[in-house]
This record gives sequence, C-alpha cells and structure tokens, in this order.
Amino acid sequence: MTAPRPDFPMHVSVQEAREMLAALLPAPTTETVPLAEGRGRTLAADLAARVSHPSATESALDGIAARAADTLTATPAAPIRLRVVGESRAGASFSGTVGPGECVRIYTGAPLPPGADAICPVEQLREEGPDHVLLVRPASPDDVRHEGSDFRAGEMVLRAGQRLTPARVALAAALGHAELPVRRRLRVALLSTGDEVVLPGQPLRPGQVYDSNRYGLQAMLEECGCEVLSLGHVPDSPAALEEAITAAGGADVLLTSGGVSMGRYDFIRDLLIEHGRVAFWKVRMRPGGPALLGGWKGLAVFGLPGNPVSSLVVFQVIVRPVLTGQPVSTLRLRAATPFRGLHDKTAFWRARLREGRVYDYGQQGSGVLRSLSEAEALVIVPEGSGVQAGEEVEVLLLA
Ligand code: AMP
Ligand code: MG
Repeated sequence: MTAPRPDFPMHVSVQEAREMLAALLPAPTTETVPLAEGRGRTLAADLAARVSHPSATESALDGIAARAADTLTATPAAPIRLRVVGESRAGASFSGTVGPGECVRIYTGAPLPPGADAICPVEQLREEGPDHVLLVRPASPDDVRHEGSDFRAGEMVLRAGQRLTPARVALAAALGHAELPVRRRLRVALLSTGDEVVLPGQPLRPGQVYDSNRYGLQAMLEECGCEVLSLGHVPDSPAALEEAITAAGGADVLLTSGGVSMGRYDFIRDLLIEHGRVAFWKVRMRPGGPALLGGWKGLAVFGLPGNPVSSLVVFQVIVRPVLTGQPVSTLRLRAATPFRGLHDKTAFWRARLREGRVYDYGQQGSGVLRSLSEAEALVIVPEGSGVQAGEEVEVLLLA
C-alpha cells in the first residue's frame, strides 16, 4: 500500500524555508524607545544627523596649534621657536587669531583657532620659558579634525532595517537622537516536547535527557531581540500539545523542539494538519532535516527537531535571519581538511578555525551538543558538491 500524497510541500530548500516562515510573520509595526533601550533592536526608519561631527574644526591631540608654513623645517637639531599667545580648550576656545611665529596651546577636541592650520603634539615640543616652545618636527595638518568630517548635519547615517549594535547606539546618540524608532519586538513562544525530557536540577533516570534546547533557544531568541514566552515542556501527548499550542495564542510565532520526525510519538505535524495547516515539512539540509512549518489560528508554528544540534543549527540558518531581518553572513575561507557533500541536501558541518583555515570538527552526529560549543564555524557545502582540502569554502561563523 502506498501512503497518501501529502498536500503540502516537502523537502524544501533552506531559502524556501526562510521565505515561507517570513510570509507567516506579521508585518512589522513601529514603536519609539529611549536610546538606552535601543541595543539589539532593529531601526524602523532612516536616521539623519541633526548636527555635524565634529561640530567645529578641532585638534585631534594635545599640543600646540600653529601655522604649518612656519614649522616646515623643524628637526631635533634645528627646532623652530614659536611664541605661545593663548590656549584653546574643549568647551573654551581661543578668541584671537594665530599670527606668523605664534601658536596656542590646544587640547584634544578643542576648536582650532583662526589662523592656525596644523597641530604639533606635546611629545614633539620643548618648553622654553613660560611663553615659548621649540618644535622638533613640523606641525601637521593631519592632526586637525575638520568640521563635519565624520558626518554633516542632514546626512542620512543610519538606515531602517539595521540592527542596533552598541556602536550604532553610540552613533545615534552622536547624531543627536534621544529616542529611536524601532520595530516592535516579535513575541516568540517556546515549547519543548518529549516524554523523556527533564528539567535540569532534577534527577535523571536512564533514557531521560535534560532539556537543553529550551535554554539554548531562549538565549538565541533573546540575542535576536525577541520577547520570549516560555511555555516550558509537554510530554508526547496530542492533548497536552494542543493545550500548549493554544496557550501560545498571544505570540507571533511558536517555536517547538522535538516531535516533528517520523516516529510514532511525533504528533505536531498531525495536529497541524487537523487544526491548522502545514506550510512545509522537511528541509534539504543536514543537520536539521525534519524541520516543520505550519499555521494555527494566525500563529506561525515552527517545529525544530529535538536533536540539540539540529535545533540550534536550524535556528541559526533559517529562523534567526527571518526574525532579525538580517541575512546570514558568511565568508570564504580555505579548508584544511576535506568536507563531505550530500547529493540531496546542503550540509552545515561543524568546523574549527585555526589561523584562518577551517578544519572538520570530526563528530558530526546531531546529538553531540558539546560539538556546537567547541566549533567556531559551520562550513556550508551545497547540495551535490564536496570540498577538497585546500579549496575555498563558504563559512558561517558561530557566535
Ligand atoms: P525528537 O525530535 O523528538 O525525535 O528528538 C530527537 C532527539 O532529541 C532525542 O534523542 C531526544 O531525546 C532529544 N531531545 C528532544 N528534545 C530535547 C530537548 N528539549 N533537549 C535536549 N534533547 C532533546
Ligand atoms: Mg521526541
């Protein structure tokens, strides 16, 4: 007897899986947060500079400001003598003009006085009485920071869709924004499944396993800037699963782990067929092949495989880029060992990095959780290809 043909796509590509998940997420809405709460959020609008930086032409060093032309011949053997006519400090500039043979003492970030066009650092000066200095090298225009050389008022500097790294939060502050327009956080419900899954801290009987996925996935979701609704763990029972999925109603997405393979106790797919719909089942990747996507009353349900490595790799490769709106970033490195290809799947092999080259981690079983913590990268081998030692390969760096 042949099994009935499923009426949903099976064995989709990694890219198709991303696109289908993205299509089930709500359109992003915007909210405003203070700068201090911006880190990890995604900008919802372009941000223009409200001021120029630097706001005036200023010194990059502590030293003296002078006229470059006066100092061109300065050497330790034949220093140039200049008269000190004043001082320019950050926040209190010199009110006069620097004339020929003159200089003012100046400090980092202090405005360059009119007349001066170069800086000589304090390390290249010798004091000569209270009013004169000797320069042992020419004052340099390179140590002048010109007004607006970093960014000019009105310039568009940050872009909608960018994630706010610490450096971008600092930049937004420097642009003059006290509040930031950001996308609303996605609410992601998280559920572990399996009769054998036990909370850490409790005794473990033979055949049981601690729930590592819950903590790994929660941490990854938080890194993605999501709000996590932890639904804990349910046994392999359709009734318990149904109750938990109903409890996820307020979320945008439900992420489950376990219960999506071919086993008799893998109920999630059948529940979706019965109460909602399946968008796809199985992705042409290893690890992580059994992943499942569906919908249940407006809630997107992404079923991750229970194997810890599979669930975390599927999260990194498919779920994270969709939740954050940031494509997976990869680089090309030289392989120090061969990496096997699979004829019908893209492989994401755990690898180690040494001196800019990638090495096969060795143990590639989906249950070997320590491998993910020890591997620095995933080597991506496209379907139907393979990598010889010495060839370049595409690599995803693990955080
Ligand atoms: P499943 O996808 O439910 O068939 O589970 C595959 C493997 O992953 C089994 O060895 C499970 O015991 C293990 N597993 C399932 N859920 C978890 C979890 N939350 N944490 C750690 N291992 C798990
Ligand atoms: Mg299971």
